[in-house]
Amino acid sequence: MSARVRIVIIGGSFGGLTTAYELRRHLGRERAEVTLLAKDEHFRFVPSFPWVAMGRRNLEQISFPLAQPLAKKHVAFAQETVINIDTDAKVVSTTHAEHPYDFLVVATGHRSANEAVPGLGPFDGPGHSPMSAKETEELAQAIRGLLADPGPVVVGAAPGASCIGPVYELAFELDHLLRQRKLRHQVPIAVLTPEPFLGHMGMGGAGTIRQLLEGALEERDITYRTSVAITRITTEAVEAEGLVPTPSLCSIVIPPLAGVEAVAASPGLSNPKGFVPVDDHYRHKTADGVYAVGVAVALPPAGETPVPVNFPKTGHMTEQMAEIAVRDLAARIDGREGTTAELSARCVLDMGDRGAYMAVDPVRPPRNRIPTVSEGRRWLYTKQAFERAYLATARRGRRMPTTLGW
Ligand SMILES: Cc1cc2nc3c(=O)[nH]c(=O)nc-3n(C[C@H](O)[C@H](O)[C@H](O)COP(=O)(O)OP(=O)(O)OC[C@H]3O[C@@H](n4cnc5c(N)ncnc54)[C@H](O)[C@@H]3O)c2cc1C
Repeated sequence: MSARVRIVIIGGSFGGLTTAYELRRHLGRERAEVTLLAKDEHFRFVPSFPWVAMGRRNLEQISFPLAQPLAKKHVAFAQETVINIDTDAKVVSTTHAEHPYDFLVVATGHRSANEAVPGLGPFDGPGHSPMSAKETEELAQAIRGLLADPGPVVVGAAPGASCIGPVYELAFELDHLLRQRKLRHQVPIAVLTPEPFLGHMGMGGAGTIRQLLEGALEERDITYRTSVAITRITTEAVEAEGLVPTPSLCSIVIPPLAGVEAVAASPGLSNPKGFVPVDDHYRHKTADGVYAVGVAVALPPAGETPVPVNFPKTGHMTEQMAEIAVRDLAARIDGREGTTAELSARCVLDMGDRGAYMAVDPVRPPRNRIPTVSEGRRWLYTKQAFERAYLATARRGRRMPTTLGW
């Protein structure tokens, strides 16, 4: 291999940015030429999308342009949309150029598979979901509409969803907002989840989180149903298998996810859902020199459930995947193999007036440690402080320790 390897990263979010920063920790400029491609010129702190939806933040407050911190790290940045990855020729094609690589890290996140349930939205149907910046702005507008003209709300997830945490956050935050405005009595809130029990979250639950969520929803008069297979969302209701339609004027339903078009359409790169199959080092199972991290990775569900729920891929998990992939990539340049580790997860759930902290190690049961679950106002402050610290640190080209907040 030549002295200076060419490494291309696709994606400028938690997976891509962590990969870039970690690569520079392991490989100096003289050893690697690193290029990051992303279709969005900004990094956005996605876990704060629910706060944007509730009007507690705007997108600008949770974003920064990628170019400057990457330049500081001697990582070339190009705001380009990838359209094809040729894993035989080792070339990434974008709408603007071709980028040959020796190593490629795919960190392209998801595409919302809104076609899975008629009515999932917002741009394909009347449903709403904060899965991207644009969709979050649309949801913020829908919530402003709800405050002006109150009516019933459903917050839920479609069968096969993997990003369940925001369902609870959105229900609790909306409840809190409505109470502050003295409008809660005009807005029945129903949670409809495909999970077999509350707090399963695609990872088989976490200690006593089920009991915590049941109590917290009941305390707040938020009704809930589990093992729900949503079949259609209309402008007036959410329909589900075996249930009478739940009236809803504002249906916030998290969709199942798929891989982005460019990854799904590139021959030999992904599984039928468009996710990238990887080994324990986040190395592609067959394509030479290719790694994938974050939501782009194919991970099997944590067991069968009556209604499908997929395995979560949180920001915290994404950063661990990037660390493992980079360790392996750097070691392979020297003809060795990197060390790997089971993923753990730490997560703080915003409950409106307080927060709930969960730590699982490893994410997939059975676990070595009894999960930690804790509730209190301090966790809400921790989540808020983590967001600020993360943005301030990352925009300076540095990394936050992955063990904190989230
Ligand atoms: C509402 C919500 C709340 C969440 N809350 C939490 C939380 O509290 N804690 C937590 O740990 N996790 C949370 N998550 C999960 C977390 O946001 C994800 O795990 C994380 O964003 C995954 O990062 P990623 O880099 O894999 O992908 P993404 O964040 O999806 O980023 C994908 C990147 O790829 C780029 N891209 C995509 N396609 C192309 C293309 N064709 N060409 C070029 N670039 C492309 C995009 O521009 C983007 O930069 C939440 C997720 C959501 C949606």
